[in-house]
Order: sequence, then structure tokens, then C-alpha cells
Amino acid sequence: MADFITRFAPSPTGPLHLGHAYSALLAHDMARAAGGKFLLRVEDIDSTRSRPEWEDQIYEDLTWLGITWDEEPLRQSDRLSDYKRALHALWNRALLYPCTCTRRDIAAASSAPQEGAEPAFGPDGMIYPGTCRAKTDRNLGFPEHEALRLDMQDALGATDRSEFCYNEQSSGKDEILCTSAQNMVHDVGDIVLSRRDFLGSYHLSVVLDDAAQGVTHVVRGKDIQPATQIHVLLQNLLGLPTPIYHHHGLIRDENGKRLAKRDDARAIATYRAEGKSPDDIRRMVGL
Ligand code: GLU
Repeated sequence: MADFITRFAPSPTGPLHLGHAYSALLAHDMARAAGGKFLLRVEDIDSTRSRPEWEDQIYEDLTWLGITWDEEPLRQSDRLSDYKRALHALWNRALLYPCTCTRRDIAAASSAPQEGAEPAFGPDGMIYPGTCRAKTDRNLGFPEHEALRLDMQDALGATDRSEFCYNEQSSGKDEILCTSAQNMVHDVGDIVLSRRDFLGSYHLSVVLDDAAQGVTHVVRGKDIQPATQIHVLLQNLLGLPTPIYHHHGLIRDENGKRLAKRDDARAIATYRAEGKSPDDIRRMVGL
């Protein structure tokens, strides 16, 4: 197995923009410099937002940028049986519970009893107040087509860790970053691991897919870094290895705002149509 295997994992929910180009080129350059592998993963688990035409556009844009990948791309929509197996295993360990709360329910429960208090936010959105936690008998059969949350307190009890650490290499040296188990309860809470409208969730699939692809180095934006502690916890729970992480800086627009998918003006396809070259794109992102 290569010592350095990394991946680029775009969601086919819109055009790739300069920020994606930077992330993909950086990971690709690192893999090539290390004599390792660069893999592609299409994060199309959210079937309500993913479109085949955006997936085609991803392959086209990356190829135009001069990026090559070393294996067939992995598509999350082909991986549902793996996600299901992991969810069943967690359910059988009584670490999941079904949740019927809407965002509005959560906001209402979080701001009570002090009227007007703001609900607390963690890396997975509003921190869940636990309304549904004790409502279902976890010895019943696996609930199909329901949102499932991880009982964070019980999950922590199921690991033998008091903190969750990973190696961050974006500063050019090894930095060990840790989150305590206590912080996981207060600052993260009971995250959603399977959604009602589709099986699985970003956090679950990303850790299963990184392990399935043998990823040793995750290169991705700093915007996702707050979620990494969740991924390390899930790797522990599921007996998967924790890769090394490199969370790179973000490409911003002239107002300092992070680029969004809907920002068509900075789409790779738009620059291409304007006659820019792949080297122009490299210069624009500082590579
Ligand atoms: N699919 C995610 C995105 O497009 C990337 C997730 C990751 O690299 O872990 O933002």
C-alpha cells in the first residue's frame, strides 16, 4: 500500500469553483510529490441535492485542470449497504436513537426556559437538547426511514478514550490536536448519523469512505476542521484508523467572504469559457 493516499471529495450539488480547484490541486500535487495516490470520491449521498450533470462537470473540470486520479471514483450512492451495516452495528450497541424533532422543535427546546436565549451551535448545527433521547426502547428492531442520532454520552462510554486526537500537518509540522470527551458532550452533542430523507449522513459516510479508500492523508478546507473531532470519535467507535489531516486555508472573494457553490462567477467552467488556462487558475489560487 502507498504511504500517502489522499482524495478529493466534492458533492455534485453545483459547479466547482476556485476554492475546489485549490483543494483538488493541492491534494493532487501533494500526492504526486509523495509518489502516492490521488483518489476521487463523489459525495452524492444527499440524493435530494445531487445531480448527474454536476458529477459530469466535476470530471470535466478536474481533467481540464490537469488532475488525474489513480482509481475509479468512489460514489457514495454505491456505498449504502456499507453505511447500513455500520448503522445496524451502532444500533445493536444501543448507541443510536430515532429522532423526530424538526429544526424548529430543537430551536424552541434549546432557547427555553429563558425566553429569547439563543440556541447553542456546534459543528453539526444546533446542539441537540436531547428531547427524543429516552423516548424509544433501543432493544427494538432497527427503525427504518427515521432520523437517527448518536447518543454522545453513551458513545463516549463505549470508547476507551478521555480525549480524541489527530495529527494536523497544515502548519508544516506535526501538531496533535485533541478534544476532551467532556467537550464532545457540551460542544457537539447528539449528532445525526442517518437522515430521514436518505440513509447515512456526511459524518458517517466520510469516515467509512476514507477507511474504504485507504486514505492516509485527508487534505480539505479549514471550514470542515470543526467536524474532524466528530470523525475521530466515529473512527474510534467503528474501529477504523484515523488518517493524518491537512486543513488548508480558504480561497475568499474580494470582500473576504468564503466562496459558495452558487457563486457562478468563480466557477471553473466560467473561467474556462472566458479563455483562462489551468495555469491561470493555479496562479489565482496561489499555487
Ligand atoms: N463533500 C465535502 C464538500 O464538498 C468535502 C468533505 C471532505 O473533504 O471531507 O465540502
